[in-house]
Amino acid sequence: MEEIYWADKIAHKVAERNKEVYVVTSGITPSGTIHIGNFREEMTVDIVKRALNKKGVKVKCIHSWDDFDRFRKVPANVPKDWENYIGMPVANVPDPWDCHKNYAEHFEKEFEEAAKIVGVNPEYIYESKEYSSCKYKDGIKEALNKREKIIEILNKFRKEPLPEDWYPIQIYCTKCGKDSTKVIFYNGDYKVKYKCKCGNEEEIDFSKQGVVKLRWRVDWAMRWKFYGVDFEPGGKEHSTPGGSRDTSSIISKEIFNYEPPIYQMYDFVILKGQGGKMSGSLGNVISLKDLNEIYLPEIVRFFYAGTRPNKEFAVPMDDEIFKIYEDFYFTERVYFDKEEIDEKRKKHLKRVYEISMIEMPKELPIQIPFKYLVFLSQIYKKDEDVLEKLKQTGHLKEKMSEFDNKRIKMLIEMARAWAEKYADEKYKFQIHEEKHLELSEEEKKAVKMLIEKINSLDENTLYEIGKESGLGKEFFKMCYKILLNKERGPRLFELIETVGKEKIKKILEKYV
Ligand SMILES: [Zn+2]
Ligand SMILES: [Zn+2]
Repeated sequence: MEEIYWADKIAHKVAERNKEVYVVTSGITPSGTIHIGNFREEMTVDIVKRALNKKGVKVKCIHSWDDFDRFRKVPANVPKDWENYIGMPVANVPDPWDCHKNYAEHFEKEFEEAAKIVGVNPEYIYESKEYSSCKYKDGIKEALNKREKIIEILNKFRKEPLPEDWYPIQIYCTKCGKDSTKVIFYNGDYKVKYKCKCGNEEEIDFSKQGVVKLRWRVDWAMRWKFYGVDFEPGGKEHSTPGGSRDTSSIISKEIFNYEPPIYQMYDFVILKGQGGKMSGSLGNVISLKDLNEIYLPEIVRFFYAGTRPNKEFAVPMDDEIFKIYEDFYFTERVYFDKEEIDEKRKKHLKRVYEISMIEMPKELPIQIPFKYLVFLSQIYKKDEDVLEKLKQTGHLKEKMSEFDNKRIKMLIEMARAWAEKYADEKYKFQIHEEKHLELSEEEKKAVKMLIEKINSLDENTLYEIGKESGLGKEFFKMCYKILLNKERGPRLFELIETVGKEKIKKILEKYV
């Protein structure tokens, strides 16, 4: 069978490794807020896992928190004096907000919860725990004994060769907790002697003291072997020729005698209007939690599922969100055979939809334009009033499924959140029920005309009143000023209809 969907193609290659259980992994260093660009790592793995599931094979999905990595730099949202912890494992740095056991856990937990919402539930492994409990002692020993060969491999890709006394490990000093250490002797077994900048000099047994970590490229390869990894993606920065993925693959084969996993590079996720990579220090970071506030979980998945990993995509937080919702609804209709498009595209979109959904609805779910909900949810503060209006306007079904009920509840909440946090002024408004301005005689006349005609109102009548009263376009401006205290707003006719003619009449009567 010819696979047309990217994850099915990867799954096909993975399955050629012929195993009882396939292991797919992702890994992130929790060095600060984990943004939606980082999340592409975990999501790509989740999608490949699902593609393997479809093939009917067994899959184990592991996400590794690389929290035994050193704390490198203080992000913008963390107090400056956290500089004192630079060089310690991120899992040993205190939580600046004091709500978790440590710095790493603060970001890990926030992220794990957000991932669960979008249906991503891997087995989480905390490298600080694994390393501290000496789980990898034999891998470390192997790497130390093949130190010269590792140096040789790495030097092939370096301009400056590594110094002869280079070791493939970092040691976190048992006195100061930092990695300002230098190996001075290795006995060929589990004992290693080091010297730290703080003055501490000692011999440790790394089969009993978990303070030794393999350096990055060696660490990556060792863990592939340890967990029997069959697929692991990597960010663009790891994927350059001779970059960490390439060298780790050679180390995997030549040092650990393990066939490296199938690889997929993934590109950046960008914020609309800002090219390039998201970065904590630039402050242009959107977390998964942020995204979950305004996009349905299936739409969050849709971003990642609908784009091939080697292409970047943009996540709009501005009014382009309306289009994203419409694009998703279109895909949903394609899945339920309500749109006529060519077969190949149909097949592809159906697959994208399957991968996007956490729970498969039995029939086409309700699809309410997000823009309309943003509008409604500002007019009606109570959810039941929004629902009542949606019923009147025919947006709800006679018989709502549990799926529909859940979706509509989320949509209303998300529309409110978007209006509050991200909407441009032109989408924000509030009905002003009390009189708050004085009108001229001419304007009063126009308002009287509107009151008279309100029960038989249509779009055209509004233009006629404008004309007849001599106010022209100013008539619309005046209405917005009265109703919203703004010079513009949503379509006037729709606004009057939605707020309700009786209520509008009562407001207008205060002005004549
Ligand atoms: Zn915390
Ligand atoms: Zn020290």
